[in-house]
Amino acid sequence: MTAVSAFPGDQFEIADNRVLPYTRAFAWALRICFALVPSAAIAYLYVSGNPALRFIDYGFHEIAIGVAISLSAFVSYVTWRCYRSSGEPFLRWMAQGMTGFTLVYLPHGVLTRTADHHLLRFLLYGPSSRIVMVTCLFVGLLRYGAPADTLEQRRRLAPIWRGILLFALIDLVVAVAADNPATYGVWLRLIAENGTIALALICIAIILWRGVSAPLMLLYVLAMAFFAQSSLSFLLAKPWDHQWWLAHAIFAGGFFILSYGVLQAFHTTRAFATVFSQEEMMRRLEAANADLERLAATDALTGAVSRRYFLSRLHEELAKAERTLAPLSLLMMDIDHFKAVNDRYGHQVGDATLVTFVERTRDVLRVPDVLGRLGGEEFCALLVGSSLTQATTIAERIRAAVEAGSIDLDNGELHVTVSIGVAEFGPDGTSIEAVIGAADDRLYRAKALGRNCVVS
Ligand code: GH3
Ligand code: MG
Ligand code: MG
Repeated sequence: MTAVSAFPGDQFEIADNRVLPYTRAFAWALRICFALVPSAAIAYLYVSGNPALRFIDYGFHEIAIGVAISLSAFVSYVTWRCYRSSGEPFLRWMAQGMTGFTLVYLPHGVLTRTADHHLLRFLLYGPSSRIVMVTCLFVGLLRYGAPADTLEQRRRLAPIWRGILLFALIDLVVAVAADNPATYGVWLRLIAENGTIALALICIAIILWRGVSAPLMLLYVLAMAFFAQSSLSFLLAKPWDHQWWLAHAIFAGGFFILSYGVLQAFHTTRAFATVFSQEEMMRRLEAANADLERLAATDALTGAVSRRYFLSRLHEELAKAERTLAPLSLLMMDIDHFKAVNDRYGHQVGDATLVTFVERTRDVLRVPDVLGRLGGEEFCALLVGSSLTQATTIAERIRAAVEAGSIDLDNGELHVTVSIGVAEFGPDGTSIEAVIGAADDRLYRAKALGRNCVVS
């Protein structure tokens, strides 16, 4: 039996496989290009932008930051939900990071209208929020692939509150640093922006080095690339100039990519590590289909083919026999007094009898023949290339083998016999129904004749 391929044009597969290395390489090139798109915009503004041009609009800034805060609060919540469900430590840290970003970025929006008299305090919350988030994402990455937290650990609210407290404290520290601009404030900004770049690049390096290929981690890498470039853009920017707004947009882009990953996780396995790529999904789907087909085709107890599969093979073999004019015969077999076996020795011995019967019969049949279990203790064998005379000989061998065999019992052994009706396609009818009917009639004649015999 062959697996059903998900691709309809399998005859093209060899040629497709030759193209595959190129399409794979191109896919990587596309990812790298996409990751570096922000750099193109940064370079463009750096080279040909007019640094004197400012877009100072407090209302717009407040709305933009308000939207960003609302979205990040929502995504933090969804990330926590994912963590609750999967227990992935990586996600716990990501949720902390997003919560941290939300809380440390918030003052940047709230303080918009103080920008004209306390610029540094207004500005400092931006880089601080980015380094807080990227640090958490970095720590989370170090826990990537770690065993899931226990249900009890996942239910704990204390880590969330501890995180919220810590982020509030960071807000305070930033405010204090901003009041000492010459000493800490300027340094804090540089450390935060450069630290974000360094950490994001380290994260990317770790993922590449570890060969992590989970598709959501690809989104994580892209987001990190955007975060690093956003900080670069902020370093090159002056407040309110175009580079500065571009830096916001790049960061938003990174955040959208990461959020999209979180939503994908939420809609599937609630974990970043276990969402499959489309390629992997196709492979698993094909394997699962093949398994299902194999399961549907065989009888679980005896290993004989199922009724459904037997009938489909019957159609195939009949069509083949009509083309080649080769003979084709059918045996209808029913174990004698099987009900009594069940009644006297129990169902388990009954099952063992069926298994033994199939083994004995298989020993007699040849490779192209098909043995099917039609139901209960009724079996049917399709004898490919056998005429009625040859089939009768084979049936007699089966009958004798079953009679000679025995099933071990706790005290002694059990012997069973089988009655068999034989019919041939052609002489006994041309349709499947007619030939099955003829074999069935003969089986009942065999039963009437006292069982343990073959009628053809
Ligand atoms: P006969 O010689 O006329 O064929 O008599 P019989 O008792 O074999 O005939 P009957 O068809 O009345 O009995 C079949 C029995 O097979 C009834 C049912 O309990 C039993 N049976 C059907 N499927 C299974 C199975 O999977 N396992 C076991 N142990 N018994 C089964
Ligand atoms: Mg029976
Ligand atoms: Mg029966």
